[in-house]
Amino acid sequence: MPPPHAIVVGAGPVGCVASAVLASSGIDVTLLEAAPELPRELRASTFHPATLDLLGPFGVVDEMIGRGLIAPRFAYRDRRQGVVAEFDLTVLADVTDYPFRLQCEQFKLCEIMLERFRSMANVTVRFGAEVLGAVDHGDSASAQLATGETMAADAVVAADGAASAVRKSLGLGFDGMTYEDRYLVLSTPFEMADHLDNLAYVNYISDPDEWLVLLRTRDLWRALFPVGDNQTDAEALSDESAQRRLQGIVARDEPYKVAHRTIYRVHQRVADRFLVGRVVLMGDAAHINNPLGGMGMNGGIHDAMLLGASLAAVLRGDMEADRLAHHAELRRTLAIEYVRRHTHENAESLAAPDGAARQRALDQMAARAADPEAARAYMLQASMINAVAAMSAELEEAGAITTG
Ligand SMILES: Cc1cc2nc3c(=O)[nH]c(=O)nc-3n(C[C@H](O)[C@H](O)[C@H](O)COP(=O)(O)OP(=O)(O)OC[C@H]3O[C@@H](n4cnc5c(N)ncnc54)[C@H](O)[C@@H]3O)c2cc1C
Repeated sequence: MPPPHAIVVGAGPVGCVASAVLASSGIDVTLLEAAPELPRELRASTFHPATLDLLGPFGVVDEMIGRGLIAPRFAYRDRRQGVVAEFDLTVLADVTDYPFRLQCEQFKLCEIMLERFRSMANVTVRFGAEVLGAVDHGDSASAQLATGETMAADAVVAADGAASAVRKSLGLGFDGMTYEDRYLVLSTPFEMADHLDNLAYVNYISDPDEWLVLLRTRDLWRALFPVGDNQTDAEALSDESAQRRLQGIVARDEPYKVAHRTIYRVHQRVADRFLVGRVVLMGDAAHINNPLGGMGMNGGIHDAMLLGASLAAVLRGDMEADRLAHHAELRRTLAIEYVRRHTHENAESLAAPDGAARQRALDQMAARAADPEAARAYMLQASMINAVAAMSAELEEAGAITTG
């Protein structure tokens, strides 16, 4: 009998990892990507320790480290006071192989994975293959392509991003909220660390007028700012506005070189279900959240690890389907109770309109950082080690490869 076959829709980080998990578990994979080639926009760029631990057995982390930047510290700052609280992830070396955040653009993981797939006989990748929807047939599933083709398989994985055509075709709700502010991201090669004292590679910066997140990637500093409804997208993206915002971080005589600029709306939304028979939703197709704390892509990769292994076990006949349903429900619960709560708290503390509330949040961070036990507890949360620990029994049950 030929091995079971799964279609994975979307070659983003989640679809690539899901394909790797399924293929390494003995499943034939067809990965369908709508774009003519791998999208390389600048989006998520932080891999948390727990995610690196999960990716470790796939042999991709060394190359990611080689193409990224190790960030052992992250900090909360105030524009006027400087560093308020700093967290040093190296103290977690007893519970993770990677006690740091890895700053590495998400498309680099996809590039590394896609290169691996070229030499794997059981993974077929098709670009320019837009999927319009999927149908669950009980013990199999199919995908409809924009070309008119219907492709049958034992299962379909929807990793087709926030606007997921598969999720919509199944009629699933995607309830939640949209933040009032949009987020503007500006990247510049200017070396901010030469001008701001003790600048970590990841900084959450509070300010009564304009909070921001300032992150280093290998080649650029990225600054993320809120955009209120007094500015249109075009105004926020204009040279004049970009220069004003960057000059507000470090004032210079000459204009900043802006390498990338993008603006986007931010939501907290979770799909009604992550599993409909033989169709599994993962990543942004299943849940989206604000990027403060860098948990969206990481949480999606955690979905791919558990649900990919679990789906493979069911398709091989090694596990009952009700266990996959249980694992899908667990991932949904973690998306709500862990990722949504943590990222929303981050947004509230940085962006609280009331100065006293913002100061309380900063004071709380300073107190945490000053107390080794509280700092460790916070870092276990922020590095998503707790989130993965919460599904360790299920990872083992599904036979997922883990380093722990
Ligand atoms: C502008 C922007 C900035 C962001 N910045 C951050 C950040 O700083 N930090 C953070 O944590 N998160 C950030 N995010 C969120 C993060 O990028 C996502 O959580 C992450 O990309 C999710 O990965 P994914 O694989 O589920 O979906 P995606 O990365 O969206 O990948 C989906 C893939 O599916 C393909 N696809 C879509 N529809 C179809 C279809 N119908 N048929 C076939 N293929 C299809 C797409 O082309 C894409 O390649 C950002 C998102 C955006 C939009």
